[in-house]
Amino acid sequence: MANSAVVGVNWGDEGKGRLVDLLAEKYDVVVRFQGGGNAGHTVINEFGRFALHLLPAGIFRKGVVNVLGNGVAVDPENLWIEMQEVMSKGVEITPDNLKISDRASLLLPWHRDLDELEEMRLADKKYGSTKQGIAPFYSDKYLKKTILAGELFYPAELKAHLADLLEWKNLTLTKVYGAKPYTMEMLDEWLTAFCDKIKPYICDTGALLREMQEAGKSILFEAQLGALRDLDYGIYPYTTSSNTIAAYAPIGSGLASAKIDNVIGVVKAYSTCVGEGPFVCEMFGEEAIKLREAGLEYGAKTGRPRRVGPLDIVATRYGAGVQSVTEIALTKLDVLGYMDEIPVCTHYLLNGKLIDYFPFPSALKYAKPAIEFLDGWKCDISSVRRWEDLPKEAKEYVSYIEKAIGCPITYISVGPERDSIIIKK
Ligand code: GDP
Repeated sequence: MANSAVVGVNWGDEGKGRLVDLLAEKYDVVVRFQGGGNAGHTVINEFGRFALHLLPAGIFRKGVVNVLGNGVAVDPENLWIEMQEVMSKGVEITPDNLKISDRASLLLPWHRDLDELEEMRLADKKYGSTKQGIAPFYSDKYLKKTILAGELFYPAELKAHLADLLEWKNLTLTKVYGAKPYTMEMLDEWLTAFCDKIKPYICDTGALLREMQEAGKSILFEAQLGALRDLDYGIYPYTTSSNTIAAYAPIGSGLASAKIDNVIGVVKAYSTCVGEGPFVCEMFGEEAIKLREAGLEYGAKTGRPRRVGPLDIVATRYGAGVQSVTEIALTKLDVLGYMDEIPVCTHYLLNGKLIDYFPFPSALKYAKPAIEFLDGWKCDISSVRRWEDLPKEAKEYVSYIEKAIGCPITYISVGPERDSIIIKK
């Protein structure tokens, strides 16, 4: 069977988790290939409601192998806590259905501190980090100043490596930020309390995925955040610190030869953006409050109110291109049921000209949204399960987006639960 990737087309929070939870049933493996515990993939299924931060959303499906690839920021503390929480609701997690790459780098205890200290130093110029240590982690990964999960199997070498890192990192903590230094005892505690717990799940996932590929098994790659937060293609510096795009999946999963047949780009029926950075289509005032309340737009990790706006065709077309999407899953269409007319940002006005391309990040703050309105459907569509049964105006909205983005919409999600979806293929 074919391999697929579920990726975000916008700023993240599009509803990737709910889609992976639905689709995982048809795949043998689900792989997270980038990002870390700053994700908040919300899933509602027969086990309850979950905001998954590190665990792949295939974890609920019997017989599916879930992999945290080498591109993921593996935070042993948060991962272990999350595993406990998910297991406490009756979900089975064993070394058979969860595998952590031995080549994944570990997020060390000081990465979260450094994230917080730097945001405090930046004060009103802060990036809006979720303070999960992601930027300090990836900086250190590329500096080669963190440790690989597989090093836990080499205790003598690990101790020496950690001692070197400790000495180096304490310079930054104490001299740059005036913070307290870490000690080897603190690291020993961390090793015992968390790293030892996740050790049974660590293995050579690259070899496993290669074997599974040779055996004709199908893989679902699960991305975190969206195209506009991609380190290389997003709204730098208000991006995340990893590559969120499908093209990175083979590298970050440990299966460099992976061929991705379907890239399912998840697009929200309106726009949301959490944290700082340019957000051209942003709505304010009463309108924004209504949309935020209707969509319950508060961050899964931080509880922060999300900034909201109409669907942004300019940004979405760019995101779909960067992701090379082959099909789109449109989520939260039900949320727009209260609107008399549906606003859509069709172009940006930049330097007196209407443009339809996504400009360079520095230009975004000068761009203004050009808005068109489509008819609203003014009813609750959350129980609709067939395309034919959608109100005419909702169908017109979906068709309008398909045409504007130039890609078929194959899934239309009308509620957060697993089965609240219209499959249009
Ligand atoms: P992800 O990080 O891309 O998985 O997205 P999040 O979980 O951060 O945000 C999506 C939010 O929308 C979650 O609270 C979901 O439960 C919810 N959600 C997803 N799809 C739908 C939908 O079609 N309708 C409604 N009303 N909520 C949805």
